[in-house]
Amino acid sequence: MDIPSESPAAASSPPGPGRELVAFGKQLAFRPGFEWIERCDLCGGTEFAPRKVYPEYLLFTGEQFRLVRCTGCALSFLNPRPGPSVIGEYYPADYGAHMNVARPLQRWQQLAGGKGAPAPGVLQRLRVRVRQDISWYFIPPFEQGGRFIDIGCGSGKLLDTMQKLGWETYGVEFAASAVERACAKGHKVEVGTAEALAHPEGTFDAAYMWHVLEHTHTPSLALANAYRYLKPGGRFFLCVPNFRSIHAALFGRYWWSTDAPRHLFQFEAATIRAYLERTGFEDVQITTRTGASSWLRGFRHTLNGWFGTKMTRDPDWLLAAFDVPVAMSSLVRFFGAGSELRVACRKPA
Ligand SMILES: [Zn+2]
Repeated sequence: MDIPSESPAAASSPPGPGRELVAFGKQLAFRPGFEWIERCDLCGGTEFAPRKVYPEYLLFTGEQFRLVRCTGCALSFLNPRPGPSVIGEYYPADYGAHMNVARPLQRWQQLAGGKGAPAPGVLQRLRVRVRQDISWYFIPPFEQGGRFIDIGCGSGKLLDTMQKLGWETYGVEFAASAVERACAKGHKVEVGTAEALAHPEGTFDAAYMWHVLEHTHTPSLALANAYRYLKPGGRFFLCVPNFRSIHAALFGRYWWSTDAPRHLFQFEAATIRAYLERTGFEDVQITTRTGASSWLRGFRHTLNGWFGTKMTRDPDWLLAAFDVPVAMSSLVRFFGAGSELRVACRKPA
């Protein structure tokens, strides 16, 4: 499969006028394989205002990356940034999403989306509703046809669950080691990026893209592909960090989702809605959620920034202990201020 070596609307020529490599007093990272965005991926605009500088906080490379905001549409992105040929260097071999984690199917997941699951009663519906709101994965209702694709599926954590719920499971993932793990579990996963078609068009009843779009070099292409994968009337589920969240404001440069340079884009409800509607999706519904990892990673980045520590993981027991406080804090979701934007929409029938 062809993976473009350079993104559309980006150039890799060395810095010059308008391409300063110092921002807010910080020297920015730039080396062979890095590129400049010349045209906004959402609106085509060419004027960008510098907003912030983010340090790299997973490998501790000491590099700094500048976030800019398009003056035309408010889309935020790193500029300059590592291009497709070097971005893989920023993903450690034990990157969380690429590792295998076996999880038993939970009762609420069966109630929410199991094939042939009985209609839940009033109390069960309430329980499912709460679990959907506080859980990392939203479980979509089972669709006739039952073909499901997870774009950027990692080692197939979600696919495992969807398979147990009765779906035929497909995926796309750029880390070859993760693809191997997913295929070993019976999922049909291809090595590739969200921007390159890896499966036949128009064959899926539901497509899912969870914490992936912010990692892509060209979100417009990734969304166009998700659209092409779906049958008419097929449902699409998307999750991205919310740049207009309480936590983004509270933690600033230590916000969990700064994650430069793995997160190349920062979205808010307005830009994500504009992207989806331009792609052709309809019935776009957006909610927000704040997870335990949003708090923990924010505190961890803050401690690393203040004290020079190099903590890269949040303990599992802390994640578990934070479940209840997080469920309470995510009351801000009613104001669209939770840490993630979760979107459901569909391709017109
Ligand atoms: Zn723009």
